[in-house]
Order: sequence, then structure tokens, then C-alpha cells
Amino acid sequence: MTWETVIGLEVHVQLLTRSKMFCGCANRFGAPPNTLVCPVCLGLPGALPVPNEHAIRLATRAALALGCTVHRTSVFARKNYFYPDLPKGYQISQFDRPLATKGSLVIESPERGRLTVGITRLHVEEDAGKSLHDRFPGRTAVDLNRAGAPLVEIVSEPDMRSPAEARAYLTTLKQVLLYCEISDCNMEEGSLRVDANVSVRQAGDTRLGTKTEVKNMNSFANVERALTVERDRQVEVMEAGGRVEQVTMLFNAASGEVRPMRSKEESHDYRYFPDPDLPPLALTQLWVEEQHAALPELPDAKRDRFMTIHGLPPYDAGVLVAERPIADYFEAVVEEGVEPKAASNWVINDAMRGYNESGTFSVTPDRLASLVALVKDGTVSNQAAKRIFPELANSAESSRAVAERLGLLQVGDLDALGGWVDEVLAANPKEVERYKGGEVKLIGFFVGQVMKKSQGKADPKKIQPVLQEKLSS
Ligand SMILES: [Zn+2]
Repeated sequence: MTWETVIGLEVHVQLLTRSKMFCGCANRFGAPPNTLVCPVCLGLPGALPVPNEHAIRLATRAALALGCTVHRTSVFARKNYFYPDLPKGYQISQFDRPLATKGSLVIESPERGRLTVGITRLHVEEDAGKSLHDRFPGRTAVDLNRAGAPLVEIVSEPDMRSPAEARAYLTTLKQVLLYCEISDCNMEEGSLRVDANVSVRQAGDTRLGTKTEVKNMNSFANVERALTVERDRQVEVMEAGGRVEQVTMLFNAASGEVRPMRSKEESHDYRYFPDPDLPPLALTQLWVEEQHAALPELPDAKRDRFMTIHGLPPYDAGVLVAERPIADYFEAVVEEGVEPKAASNWVINDAMRGYNESGTFSVTPDRLASLVALVKDGTVSNQAAKRIFPELANSAESSRAVAERLGLLQVGDLDALGGWVDEVLAANPKEVERYKGGEVKLIGFFVGQVMKKSQGKADPKKIQPVLQEKLSS
């Protein structure tokens, strides 16, 4: 029997604001426990929440970047539950009137190619505090620094059909959020958290099977792992003639297993109701338009432009737009007059090595352009340029000066070339014999040998005529 997997994702993203959602406390990771708190986020009696305008701004931009309809009026609601890290006894969230609905995100599925995943809704809420189970032996500690931090929850449609597709969706979503500077999306620090709904059904069936919710996945790779394990578990249950129970499963990254947590609370258990301390959130058309205008060019549009305007192959375009600083660097190099495909090769093969290590590009675009110009006018070979490039990092020395210092200026001098050619021919008598016997494609071999002998300094364009002359004599 063929089974189809159906996955929907709920992603919580912490917004890049200086202060929390409803009070003036700093919104910052890593401070000593319970130092970033006040009567509002501690839930003390009489304290009143005031919404953070910048958080609403970022949430609106996230919604617009995902093509959602932003509603002119949305409502903050109390989600009631008891937990030690929630001092108020309720979380301020949005329920039946969220900030935004009905968006979409185009992803590159490893199995199905480009496809559109629907976004059901995006709403604003505050974070809870954090329970620490490893700080004191046998006890649980509570840190409320995170209580009240601003979040958006982004809920997708159940449009994904494999764990790998779920991962591709997350990678693309993160890209968009980073481009728009909505969140730092740091999963290790908890600023991006993923819960997944997964079910299986017989291929061709249009009804959804019973879903489980999978939690506690701390990396995109672990989301893929956890969903694979859970999907396989459900298929096994169904094939044995059993029924999947609607439960919450916790993933254990160390053992690679999922185990059930508690029976799923239905949403009515939270007894949502409009927060009487907060009036409905009303946004003007103009204000929403301003947020739209503030969005940068998004990765998908940039990728299309790199292919159409710069004529890059899809692979290059995809690599370059993966992060905004890489795309910006590439465009700055092109701006300096480098032909786009050459610029792309240099960025992907050479410049990105340093960027991946340090997070910055240490060779400025104009200096890379000057190096590429030396290759173009034949002053240095492409091989030599690759040795010069790292020397340009964090230095003021010109490309030409480095080439001279390292003895890499290309030699087009016929006497010098002739000397290297003689040595190569003398060292490879068998190949000379075969060439003379008609195997003319060996010319490439000889050129390579001369380049090697000259340590990359010989001008490859000038080697061939010298070789041909000597081989025909
Ligand atoms: Zn506070």
C-alpha cells in the first residue's frame, strides 16, 4: 500500500525589538535569570499592558512578505492555562481575529520542484517564560526574562508531503524573515521554534488522516528527522490495522525517538476571550502601505532578477540569494564592472569561503574587481588570481603588487615559454611520439604540463602556438 504524508507547520518567531510586547523591559537573550522583568510581564495585579508599535510593525511586514491579507482590525485574546512559567495564568495572543490570514510561500521541494505552500494565518502574541530543568538537581527553576517577549505565530496549510519538504519550507521562511529583518531566527536561542502536525493517508485519498503534533525539534535537520520517525511510526500502526491517536509527540534528538506527551488539548480548553485590558488593534490603510513599502526585494524576486537581468544559471542565482549579504556583495562586484557570471564564480568559489567562516567579506568589491581585471587583460592567469585573492583580505596592497611579490605575473615572453616547452617535451617522449602519430588532442596535456612547470605563470593563450611550432619541427 502506498502512503502519503501530510504535514503542516506552526512556527513561532521572536521579533527583533528592543523591548517586550506589552512593557518596556528589554527583549534580550542571555541576561542573568529574572533580571528583565517588571509588574506587567510578571502579571502583578493592576499592571496594564501597552502594545509595542515596532512589534506590530515587524509582524505586519512579515505578513505582507508572506502575501497575507493584513486585517484593519484584529483582536488580542487571552489564552488561559496554568503553567509555572506563565505568571499571569494566561498568554496574550490572538484567536478568532488574527492580524493576518491567507498568504503563501513558494518553496523548492526536493521531490516536486517549485510549489506554493499556503499560509493559513499569522498572529501576534507574547512569549512565556522558561522552565529550567538542568540548573538545580531534582528541581525546576523558572526564568521570566522571556515572559512577554514579542512573537508571531505563522501557521501553514497542510500542504507539505514529505519531511524534506517541511525542511525546505522552513529554510525558505527563515530566508524571508532574515531578509526583512523581522527576527534573527536563531533556533539555539529559541527565537525560531517549530511544531509540526503530521498525518498519513492512502495515496489518492482526499480526506485527512488523524494527525499528531510533534514538538521539541531544535534544528531544521531535526525537524526532518523527527517527522520521518513519526511518519514511519504512523504507517506501521496503520499497516498493522490500528488507528493513530491524536496526541502530542516529543522528539528526543539524542535517541532519535518520538514519544507521546499528553493528550492534545482542544483549543476550547484555553477558554479564549478578548483581553479586556487591550482595545482591538486598528491599523490604517496608509500605515499598512508604509510597511509594504519598507519591505526589501524578497529572495524569490531577487533570484528571478539575477537569472533574467544578470543571465545567471538557476544554481548560481539560488546560492547568491540564500543570504542578503551574499546577494549584496555579488551585486557590488558587478557594479564595479565585473561580468556577472565571472563575479558569480568568484563569489561562490572564493569569497564565500571566508564569509562562511567569519560572516563578512574581507575583500572589498572594488579590490576583487581589480583582480578580475588583471585576469582579463592577461597580466595574471586565473590560477594565479586564485592564489592572490586571499592575500587581498584585510590589506591595502594592490592585486598587481601581490602578483609581483609572489612572482605570479604571467609570462608571455617567447624565450621563457620556449624553455618550459622544451623541458616538457624532453620529459614526455612517449606523448610526443603519440602526438606526432596523430593524437592531436594531447595538446591539452602539454599545455597543462607547461602551466605546471611555470607554476601557473605561463600565459596559456601563448603556449599553444609555441608548442605546435616545436612539435611540428
Ligand atoms: Zn516587563
